[in-house]
Amino acid sequence: MKELVLLGASGSIGTQTVDIVLQHPNLFHVRALSVGHNIKELRKILACLDTELICVQEEKDAHLLQKEYSQRRFVYGDTGLLTLAGLKDYDVLVNALVGFAGFAPTMKAIETGHEIALANKETLVVGGELITDAVKKHGVKLVPIDSEHSAIYQCLQGNRRSDVKRLWITCSGGAFRTLTREQMKDVTVDDALSHPNWHMGPKITVDCANLMNKGFEVMEAHYLFGMDYDDIRVVMHPQSVVHSMVEYVDHSFIAQLGAPDMRLPIQYALTGPERYYYKEENPMDLWQGMDLHFEAPDTEKYPLLALAYETGRKGGILPAVMNGANEEANLAFRQKKIPFLKIEEIVMGAVRACVWQPVNTEADLIRGDRFGRDYAQRMIKETLN
Ligand code: MG
Repeated sequence: MKELVLLGASGSIGTQTVDIVLQHPNLFHVRALSVGHNIKELRKILACLDTELICVQEEKDAHLLQKEYSQRRFVYGDTGLLTLAGLKDYDVLVNALVGFAGFAPTMKAIETGHEIALANKETLVVGGELITDAVKKHGVKLVPIDSEHSAIYQCLQGNRRSDVKRLWITCSGGAFRTLTREQMKDVTVDDALSHPNWHMGPKITVDCANLMNKGFEVMEAHYLFGMDYDDIRVVMHPQSVVHSMVEYVDHSFIAQLGAPDMRLPIQYALTGPERYYYKEENPMDLWQGMDLHFEAPDTEKYPLLALAYETGRKGGILPAVMNGANEEANLAFRQKKIPFLKIEEIVMGAVRACVWQPVNTEADLIRGDRFGRDYAQRMIKETLN
């Protein structure tokens, strides 16, 4: 039985984690969980889980809920998240928070000796060096939930890491795969939020449409698997059937295939290398026939992919700047304040405007994040005027 702390329980990954827990009551127990503002979803979760400690974003929500659920304990805000991450009596922190907000609780859990199942890729994008150093220092396991990285993690089992030649990260192309740059000028929020294959939260779905997400995943792979940026390739694969591949020195490719369902990588992160049945509504059936297509990405159509490689190679505070600017620009697009292509203009502008500095502590990351957000806010204001 594994005791879990689940951060971001009401989001897409969070609710699917709850589903996996409910399917395996003998394997998992949720010791503590957090949600942001989605109290309606929290009530649904509390109806099926006996979790004792719950963190919400707002103090007033915590007080109201405490009266309603007197048998449980409620905490709130950023300090509440750190309380959960720093608990003694649990095994795995499942981090399904969105954005840089996920960094501090991840670090706290590592420092208190816990294993991490990470869906919050921004943690590695922004603070990859600090996180990987801490993972080594405290001797804990950091396992990916992101489907591409889970695929690579699965394809690495039973092989020598020194025999890996290259990682191939597959990319569906997102909502605008078939559009030209010209056509991408006028796309709406609803257009961007309709991903052809995956059902995900709104922030990541927009990140998928301009390939910022794929750029983040290249950086995530660099830190998770210790691979050089030259040995990580993105390949367009619109069917989202091959979730990623590992190429070995003997020219063999090992791929992981499956239905586009995040519950598989979530479960594998918690049980791997052991596998368990879970109820899949649309399992893959090759007898139905299937065509798989692969091609090189167009970095002129998607400049943020190239920017992520460049920013990842330079390192220092620049990844924090890139991510901070993207979080603000992504949100402003979803709030209909800026057009779609303005996101990449803002993110590229922020990285170009920042002077490189090294990262030694979390304070350096916060400074980079602040720079990116301030730059983005100025550009968003200019667009509105
Ligand atoms: Mg992914």
